[in-house]
Amino acid sequence: MTERVVVACRVRPPLSSSEAKSICVTPVDDQRVCVGGHRIFSVDRVYDVSCGDELIFRERVAPLIEGFLVGYNTTIMAFGQTGAGKTHTMNSISPLVVEVIAQHMGGLENISFQLLEVYGEVLHDLLALPTPGAATSSGASPSPHNNNNDMGASPAPPSHSKPLQLLEGQTQTHVVGASRVKARTLEEARTILDHGYRARATGATAMNAASSRSHSILTIFNHHKLSKLHLVDLAGSERNKKTHNVGVRFKESIGINTGLLALGNVIRALSKNSTFIPYRASKLTRLLQDSLGGNSRTLFLACVAPDSANLDETIRTLQYSSKAMHVLNEPLPNMDVIQAEQQQQIRRMQAALDLSSDE
Ligand code: ADP
Ligand code: MG
Repeated sequence: MTERVVVACRVRPPLSSSEAKSICVTPVDDQRVCVGGHRIFSVDRVYDVSCGDELIFRERVAPLIEGFLVGYNTTIMAFGQTGAGKTHTMNSISPLVVEVIAQHMGGLENISFQLLEVYGEVLHDLLALPTPGAATSSGASPSPHNNNNDMGASPAPPSHSKPLQLLEGQTQTHVVGASRVKARTLEEARTILDHGYRARATGATAMNAASSRSHSILTIFNHHKLSKLHLVDLAGSERNKKTHNVGVRFKESIGINTGLLALGNVIRALSKNSTFIPYRASKLTRLLQDSLGGNSRTLFLACVAPDSANLDETIRTLQYSSKAMHVLNEPLPNMDVIQAEQQQQIRRMQAALDLSSDE
């Protein structure tokens, strides 16, 4: 019943001639990668620069989607420094995921979408603002928002809605009032998600002009089998010194590191089989509690840049990945979990009735 977190390493292609001249990440075989000429890291699968998005989808993602369709909670999480290809990879995978789900379920009727951003320790609903032309928005009604852009002409994304709160349930963490949006067609799903992702907070740093310092979590709910699929694009894992962050941005970096730091601590504790797992140390780890050490199948996509300028961060990413490979989950189809709970309840009621009839 236990199932290990699967780790795939994706090496992005060089983006410039100087990167191309200083390649320091080379695959040894399908499961080993050599970094800096002498350090070898093992993962479940290496996708080198020649591997396209479709191959990763076919080999790693499609089998997970099959599981999601029969009721398994599923998580696909991209990790790595800014510029390593996390967003590229997740943005290529997400539309294919939605397409396959629609194909198998004969439409999107039994599916809804939730898109959250964790920015510092603040949680935002990226689907709170209605998408022009989109269908129904179930769950919370759109929250009030402070969009200062009242000229109406700018293509700038809308500013954030009111921060959301987390509520601890008996077995799960709930996001209070997060929008769950339905789409009638694939086209509409794409529009909704594009609109949501554009609202994600980004800011220029010395490392990447459009670097993202927030985590985004797209959750797809399968109402038919009661399973959840998280597609997570984590914030850049680089250390602050490289990004020359100062002032407000520096504080934001610290906030983001809270989530990644907590994620690292959760992974470390799980990989060592500790009895105490510090999920509660951040919003990110509370939201992803099921994904690591819980009821989920999880794919960890370690994204790395190919060149020597990024060597230190690449090594850190792969060290992190090695730990993630030791994390065990206990995935169970959700209908089975619910049926077991219902059967238990029936047995309890039956026992209570038997007792009362004895009296
Ligand atoms: P991250 O989200 O990790 O900061 P991005 O996904 O934004 O990184 O990637 C950084 C740059 O590299 C972008 O310009 C992106 O288009 C490019 N890139 C990333 N991965 C690939 C890839 N597999 N093939 C081609 N270009 C890529
Ligand atoms: Mg990104």
